[in-house]
Amino acid sequence: MKTVAFCTLGCRLNFAETSTISRFFIERGFKVVPFSQKADFYVLNSCSVTSNANRKGRNAVARAHSLNPDAVIIVTGCYAQLKPDEVAALPGVKYVFGVNNKAEIERIIDNADTKDVFVNTTPHNEMKTFVPAFSKGDRTRAFLKVQDGCDYFCAYCTIPFARGRSRNPSIAECVEQVKSLAADGMKEVIISGVNIGDFGKTTGETFCDLLKTLVKVDGIERFRIGSIEPDLLTDEIIEFVASEPKMMPHFHIPLQSGCDELLKLIGRRYDTALYRHKIELVKKLIPDAFIGIDLIVGVNGESPEMFDKTVDFVNSLDISFIHQFQYSEREGTRALKFTPRVTAKQKQERADVIKSICERKHREFVEKNLGSGRSVLFESAKKGGLMFGYTDNYIRVAVPYDKSLVNRICQVRLMEMIDEEVVKVEIL
Ligand code: SF4
Repeated sequence: MKTVAFCTLGCRLNFAETSTISRFFIERGFKVVPFSQKADFYVLNSCSVTSNANRKGRNAVARAHSLNPDAVIIVTGCYAQLKPDEVAALPGVKYVFGVNNKAEIERIIDNADTKDVFVNTTPHNEMKTFVPAFSKGDRTRAFLKVQDGCDYFCAYCTIPFARGRSRNPSIAECVEQVKSLAADGMKEVIISGVNIGDFGKTTGETFCDLLKTLVKVDGIERFRIGSIEPDLLTDEIIEFVASEPKMMPHFHIPLQSGCDELLKLIGRRYDTALYRHKIELVKKLIPDAFIGIDLIVGVNGESPEMFDKTVDFVNSLDISFIHQFQYSEREGTRALKFTPRVTAKQKQERADVIKSICERKHREFVEKNLGSGRSVLFESAKKGGLMFGYTDNYIRVAVPYDKSLVNRICQVRLMEMIDEEVVKVEIL
């Protein structure tokens, strides 16, 4: 039996796509082995969000090549799309491709013996097709891709060059996918994409209509919205989440900066007033909602005064978590020309400030919930005699392992924090 090993870098969308690619290999009779083992085929789904992500991709290829110099190494994902020739030149790489559909995978498997290196990426302005994907995580919750690409072209971001223009399947097609996930026993679906609020642009539908339709599918008891741009998170969506029991009280809303001048410079499509309105509406209608935000730290053009404004703004928001990433210069983006440039030391100092705000905000959020009753979907993994799950409002919790709880939604009471991340609960 031929073996294949997968390595995924980057976002949840990449994980969903790797999962879909792995199913194509399994259908062809392959056995999946860990990436740390010798395999006949290695598939790297790469990321290019920072220069560090590119380096990790090169390291993964080198590791695969050293494990089996005769293996077929296949590289897909954003790094492959943006730098196909650089990737194709890495030792052992046989295929560099951009479209992860079944036909492409079949073609690669069928031509595995060839000596040549194949590059089949698509220019971003020609990427028109939507390739469906989903991952099943630990078989209790699934990440479903409902949208791909982005039309926003923020000044620091290469994603639109790697993934092309915004596109999506129809609501009817998404419903069919969700029905199949329900038939497979999934209880929760995380609705994912690059810029999911843009769902419907290519089918004349809306993201809110998608949500209203998906919640009618029997079997799936929980839906979460992945990261959604603040200007696309309509009041109607927030009101729907507040009124619909199947929609989890959990939002992930990129902010990037709390300074209006910088937001404008980097091409974001909202200001702090709009952002504050969204956060306040969520908290007014759903006081216990989890709100995670994204911040980019040290982007070219971010002066110390601008960073101070971000700190003040973030401190003033009722949020639960901050996903921060340090800016990394990306070829072909407008931000390369912005000044002042932030030194590596300044970036680290700013990152440290944001990290401590995040830790405080998250602790405060969790502490507010201690003593309350919430619903939890328990997962299958066992670690240190414990099993884990997330509350509806995205607090990680643990109980002593009990197999009968796997993939069950239970009412629990939050007792005490085991550490910064996890809360001990009792089943009610
Ligand atoms: S919205 Fe901006 S940051 Fe997000 S993927 Fe699109 S261009 Fe990149």
